[in-house]
Amino acid sequence: MSSTDSPATRVVTAGRPDRAADAPLNEPVTFASTYHAGGEVGYGRYGNPSWTALETVLGDLEGGRALAFASGLAASSAVLSLLPEDAVVVAPDCAYLGVLDQLRERAAQGRATLRQVPVDDAAAVAAAADGATMVWLESPTNPNLDVTDIAAAATAARAAGAVTVVDNTFATPLLQRPLELGADLVVHSVTKLLAGHSDLVLGAVVAGSDDLYQRLDAHRRLHGSIPGPMEAYLALRGLRTLSVRLEKAQTTAALLASRLAGHPAVTKVRYPGFGTMCSIEVAGGAAATDKVVAGVRLWVHSTSLGGVESSLERRRRWPTESPTVDESLLRLSVGIEDADDLWADLAGALEAASA
Ligand SMILES: *Cc1c(COP(=O)(O)O)cnc(C)c1O
Repeated sequence: MSSTDSPATRVVTAGRPDRAADAPLNEPVTFASTYHAGGEVGYGRYGNPSWTALETVLGDLEGGRALAFASGLAASSAVLSLLPEDAVVVAPDCAYLGVLDQLRERAAQGRATLRQVPVDDAAAVAAAADGATMVWLESPTNPNLDVTDIAAAATAARAAGAVTVVDNTFATPLLQRPLELGADLVVHSVTKLLAGHSDLVLGAVVAGSDDLYQRLDAHRRLHGSIPGPMEAYLALRGLRTLSVRLEKAQTTAALLASRLAGHPAVTKVRYPGFGTMCSIEVAGGAAATDKVVAGVRLWVHSTSLGGVESSLERRRRWPTESPTVDESLLRLSVGIEDADDLWADLAGALEAASA
């Protein structure tokens, strides 16, 4: 592996065992709660070679040092554990529900002041960063797909002495590298595009500095929110094909976004111009949107996203979803099936729902 290789190459080549005769090409899955004494790891809560291989690849792609966690929310929770008791946190007015719920819980306990802003408004983010402890960004946001100027936000945060965190789940490091744009920490729900097959739950944090890495590692060692070795192995196996999955799904997502923009039953298309996620708002409100969901054959009705199979969900079916998300918003996670098949299925359901 060479650092001059492109990310599409490194996602395949990084984190492999040495090329010794008869060595396996992939890091095997290691089931171990304990190790023979005298080494650096010692116990299964402190390290596992199957995590290390995954962390090596993620750290390499994001340009920092990665730590794998039991889930994306365990990773977020570890990052929020860095906050002092009187923290001021800037957060999106719409973002992944669980992260906002963690922040609201902290605010309700009197342990943080929450400043929610529209993250696509760079001036609003910069103004809110003044006096803040942490600026938590998600870009594009889930599910409104708003995009933040991460470099501008990180500059404002740094000037205010705040730590910048970016949830990079929707873009992946192949499309956006927040640490290069000035962020301090990157959070991932590896569950989604990185693992890519809807068969595991796993999270990660990538730290831009050794200090933050050490503090998060200490948190994981003490609080124990560790991934299983099998999940880490499967996540890395899925990650190897990220480049081709992303390329295919992104091409289809762009095509669907442009066709949806001309569909009479669609009142709004939210597509950031990149990535595999597209949200639409449907004429006729929640009832018509639920009909679309019931009317598809290929698209899978399920929460979560980023798998090889295309899925959709009306997000406001969740009672705590942000009111900034329209009742008729249908979040589309585009997979790798044939684009025309996906279009025919969706267009048919839209027509039936608006008839
Ligand atoms: C799913 C998701 C999370 C939470 O990750 P889990 O792996 O489900 O715990 C966090 N952020 C975003 C943007 C997500 O889509």
